[in-house]
Amino acid sequence: MSIIVQKFGGTSVADSQKILAAARKAIRAKKEGHQVVTVVSAMGHTTDQLIDLAKQITAQPPAREMDMLLSTGEQVSVALMAMAIHSLGDQAISMTGAQMGIITDSTHTKARIRSISADRIRKALDEGNIVIAAGFQGISPTADITTLGRGGSDTTAVALAAALHAETCEIYTDVDGVYTTDPRLVPEARRLKQISYDEMLELASAGAGVMHNRSIEFAKKFSVPVHVRSSFSDQPGTMICEEPESPDQPVCGAAMIKDEARVTVLGVPDRPGAALAIFSKIAARNVPIDMIVQNVAADGRADISFTVVRDELPATLKAVEEASRALGAEGYTYDDNVAKISVVGLGMKKQPGVARRMFRALADKGINILMITTSEIKISVLVDRNEALESLRTVHAAFELEKEPASVAPRGAVAASPANNGTADAVARMQNMEDLLIDDITLDESQARVTVSRVPDKPGIAAQIFEEIAAAGIVVDMIVQSVGREELANLSFTVPQKDLGKSLELLSKLAARLGCPPPTSCPAVAKLTVFGTGMRSHTGVASRLFRCLADVGINVDMINTSEVRVSVVVEGGQGRKALDALKAEFADVLV
Ligand code: ADP
Ligand code: ASP
Ligand code: MG
Repeated sequence: MSIIVQKFGGTSVADSQKILAAARKAIRAKKEGHQVVTVVSAMGHTTDQLIDLAKQITAQPPAREMDMLLSTGEQVSVALMAMAIHSLGDQAISMTGAQMGIITDSTHTKARIRSISADRIRKALDEGNIVIAAGFQGISPTADITTLGRGGSDTTAVALAAALHAETCEIYTDVDGVYTTDPRLVPEARRLKQISYDEMLELASAGAGVMHNRSIEFAKKFSVPVHVRSSFSDQPGTMICEEPESPDQPVCGAAMIKDEARVTVLGVPDRPGAALAIFSKIAARNVPIDMIVQNVAADGRADISFTVVRDELPATLKAVEEASRALGAEGYTYDDNVAKISVVGLGMKKQPGVARRMFRALADKGINILMITTSEIKISVLVDRNEALESLRTVHAAFELEKEPASVAPRGAVAASPANNGTADAVARMQNMEDLLIDDITLDESQARVTVSRVPDKPGIAAQIFEEIAAAGIVVDMIVQSVGREELANLSFTVPQKDLGKSLELLSKLAARLGCPPPTSCPAVAKLTVFGTGMRSHTGVASRLFRCLADVGINVDMINTSEVRVSVVVEGGQGRKALDALKAEFADVLV
């Protein structure tokens, strides 16, 4: 018999009537002939209230006790949900994370799932029960209760779907699907019929709070089809699966993270291992780094900029202070009043000009871009927090995301996934469910790098530069921009080697017009990209990559990070050596 996993979020079980409504959905799925596992979150704002309570006692509650406290929210709702099903005449049993055999590591408040022994759930299902599973929680190897991080019930649901080889995982929530952006912020946003795992992963980590990003890592790794839909209606919602909604759309969605902080370490000696020294000190404090922009050095020194969530700024600055002293850097600056706006789409791989369109739209509204990073399927810019919402609305409109795409792919297939057919491969991957997986490491030796430095930090400059480059028919690949010092920015990007001459000619004229020094370049660079799952939620990946390259004496010129890949640009002659070193470094997790 096929298994369906359903998950109800906090608002969907906020009161007794809503719990009864969710119970009816579970009973209906069972009557339709499925075995049903229902994952529930804590009721309404319970988790927030519990956190608030703890903070009234102490500013720094011990993480173990926090987990003990927070897990109670879900324990209340599973019991009530099981009672609701009994009252409606069906059979149900509630289970905590420990009772379901969800074993995690011991990182309290953000634990990772190691394994799930689904035996007890299967037995209960076979006995005719609807299994009501507590979301968001597990148990460590030392039998302590753990939680998976805010929003983690989505991850419980998708992980159970993978472990049980479920036919599908239905996420019932207070919106009727995944929208092109948060519909509460941009009312014109459109519901997507379908979105690919990679796009959803990027959007979730770029701020689209509708899904916990780690749940999508699971879904991708185990090919679990996820259906995001409304708790309050029976309309179909959004399928998250392999294929995007439309093969022709360059952008499928936009997202915002409002509370970021930018740090720039100035005058870092440009030698192998310098970036590593900074990032390993930050990783040691368990702070995840978001955007990283390293620009090529002028006069043997580079500026390295990155962002962290604002709450992590104090810890980050301590690490930066230590690192810059040890490195002999010139100092650092920071800005805790910034926000990140991203656009995501698999289609941008094939369509040039997406970055230019985004920069032009922002420039026309007079919005200044403080930092830029791009990956094959995502462009992120940093803006002033006061302009964040306007920026999000502006890019949403610029890509006409409110409009239906002209061509739409067939709706994602539900069957024939490795999770469903239980291949040996899928079983092997279940051993350490949330481990980092590297799918591929590639080398691109076709690019050249150009850099314009001391660009005035004001609206419209990036748009102007990329419009002129595009008008000359030059396709830009990787872009990084960061503010350096004295309100001046450095901008680097890569172009095909054959277009270097033309690019430099154009840029020289532009630089003269803007009052910048002549552009610099490297005629042949090597771009190395590590593709995988868990690239950013495993905070050590970037450090490992830098350590590996530093160990073989390779200097990193440009860096770009995203949820599903990390790219670095190194000097052309070093490409092969870098590729071999990275393949050896990641051999244990390369599939
Ligand atoms: P639940 O409690 O069911 O887990 P969440 O509050 O975690 O619900 O997620 C649903 C909310 O996510 C929506 O109410 C919406 O405001 C927000 N959201 C953010 N980005 C998006 C998006 N791209 N599409 C849909 N909803 C989004
Ligand atoms: N109750 C938890 C939270 O509020 C988990 C979840 O809702 O997914 O973060
Ligand atoms: Mg949620």
